[in-house]
Amino acid sequence: MSATSTIEWTDATWNPVTGCTRVSPGCDHCYALTFAERFRGVPNHPYEQGFDLKLWPERLELPLHNGRNHVVSLSIQ
Ligand code: SF4
Repeated sequence: MSATSTIEWTDATWNPVTGCTRVSPGCDHCYALTFAERFRGVPNHPYEQGFDLKLWPERLELPLHNGRNHVVSLSIQ
């Protein structure tokens, strides 16, 4: 979770799931896939598994413990 964000409509972002599954030709130029695949195989990098779908259980409760009352947006990537 990023505790701050420069996105105007949120205060922070949270991504307990990373990666995605290509579903259509519209995914052919997915920037997130390209970004994530650059790090496939890099030990301990958040995208070590590339763009394979991955649930991060240890991130599920992060918004409950940040001690701040603000808008947290779910981020998918
Ligand atoms: S994140 Fe990328 S791969 Fe997933 S649905 Fe969107 S364009 Fe397709």
